[in-house]
Amino acid sequence: MHIVIVGAGAAGCFAAIALKRECPWAEVTLLERGIRPLAKVAITGGGRCNLTNSFKQVKSLEQVYPRGHRLMKRLFHRFSHKDVYEWFQNEGVKLVTQPDECVFPRSQQAMEIVHTLTERINRLGVKLYTRCRVQAIEPCESGFIVRTADNSYKADKVLVATGGWPKAASESPITGISLQTNLPVPSLFSLALDASTLTERMGLVVEDAVVTLPGTKFQAKGPLLITHWGVSGPAILRLSSYAARHLAEKGYKGTLSIRWTGELPHDQVKEMLEETAATHKQKQLSGIHPFGLQARLWTHLLQRTGLHESLRWSDLQGKALHKLINTLTNDCYNITGKNRFKDEFVTCGGIALDELDSSTLEAKRYPGLYFAGEVTDTDAVTGGFNLQAAWTMGYVAAQSIAEKLKQAKQ
Ligand SMILES: Cc1cc2nc3c(=O)[nH]c(=O)nc-3n(C[C@H](O)[C@H](O)[C@H](O)COP(=O)(O)OP(=O)(O)OC[C@H]3O[C@@H](n4cnc5c(N)ncnc54)[C@H](O)[C@@H]3O)c2cc1C
Repeated sequence: MHIVIVGAGAAGCFAAIALKRECPWAEVTLLERGIRPLAKVAITGGGRCNLTNSFKQVKSLEQVYPRGHRLMKRLFHRFSHKDVYEWFQNEGVKLVTQPDECVFPRSQQAMEIVHTLTERINRLGVKLYTRCRVQAIEPCESGFIVRTADNSYKADKVLVATGGWPKAASESPITGISLQTNLPVPSLFSLALDASTLTERMGLVVEDAVVTLPGTKFQAKGPLLITHWGVSGPAILRLSSYAARHLAEKGYKGTLSIRWTGELPHDQVKEMLEETAATHKQKQLSGIHPFGLQARLWTHLLQRTGLHESLRWSDLQGKALHKLINTLTNDCYNITGKNRFKDEFVTCGGIALDELDSSTLEAKRYPGLYFAGEVTDTDAVTGGFNLQAAWTMGYVAAQSIAEKLKQAKQ
């Protein structure tokens, strides 16, 4: 029995190990177009590899998997974040969970994950070929022919784990196979804004902001970072993930509304401002900056409201008060484009999940052909959820293939 896995990334390598352990007698070939396996894993988490999450702060999977949450719910019954944690610990990789619930190797070295996986692949006798770009997968009578530029491999089963493909659909390795694909577009990016007076405040972080795209349901909250081109940080990355397709359709143009006072209700914002005004009547507006906002940001917000910094707090009444509340709770900027976030960038879109059996990840129309990882229309926000999806899907696909191989052997 010969199984070909296309793509030696997180999902492909994890699947190769799981499969070879279940079926040591099967021949497993891993074809990688790059010069080394797990190249992306090596740079994850800024070189530290945020390999999973404790999920303790996750109220619903939809919150972290904007695409694929139903599938992940199902697959986690077979291989969850706890299984991933245990798996790596059993392989001798000590892990640490940060206060924000992200899980990293204790060594803080992504290369430890890369070395652990490649060492297991070699030890188990998986045949790994690098610089081997698969160009086509063709169904044939007894399985598939997997073609590279110089070779072709006859396979009984094939697992495609080629990762995200945010650029050209033509780069898809699945020529010869006809499956519905949801147009791949980027996710996890920061936003460029037409807002020079805001970007002058670059480097400032607002711990608890709420960001929305007015007129849509897309909203995210969390820390917001002001950059020299616009805004970034967890709140913006989440928003970019939730609204990845919408923003792509709009050409990364539109309006961003920032609520600088977090989730504090409108009435409480008003009350707090009135209290501050009553307590500091004679002070200048610039002298007191409420809601924990930094002085530099506060003066920017006063400017945007048209309030002079030297006004007294006692002057903050009527229209002026209402205008300031509006700036604090619905501060709108023009989005002029997107910027690649320095740490992470994933693909929204890929093989439509309807095409796959949600228990086995086998293509419904092509028995024997499996898909795992970012190549499918599954992606997550930051926090270790993307790699978790890759490990889970790789493992489940491998188990599903192993079950079939064992049945065939009997
Ligand atoms: C800079 C960066 C940092 C990140 N940090 C994190 C993080 O800390 N935590 C987290 O959870 N997620 C992170 N992610 C996302 C995460 O890395 C991916 O979601 C994950 O690697 C997807 O795994 P995969 O196996 O599906 O794809 P990949 O890991 O991308 O692997 C796919 C492999 O297939 C190969 N391939 C593609 N086409 C072919 C072909 N035709 N023939 C042969 N081989 C092919 C590719 O070369 C690649 O090696 C990060 C992403 C980036 C870009």
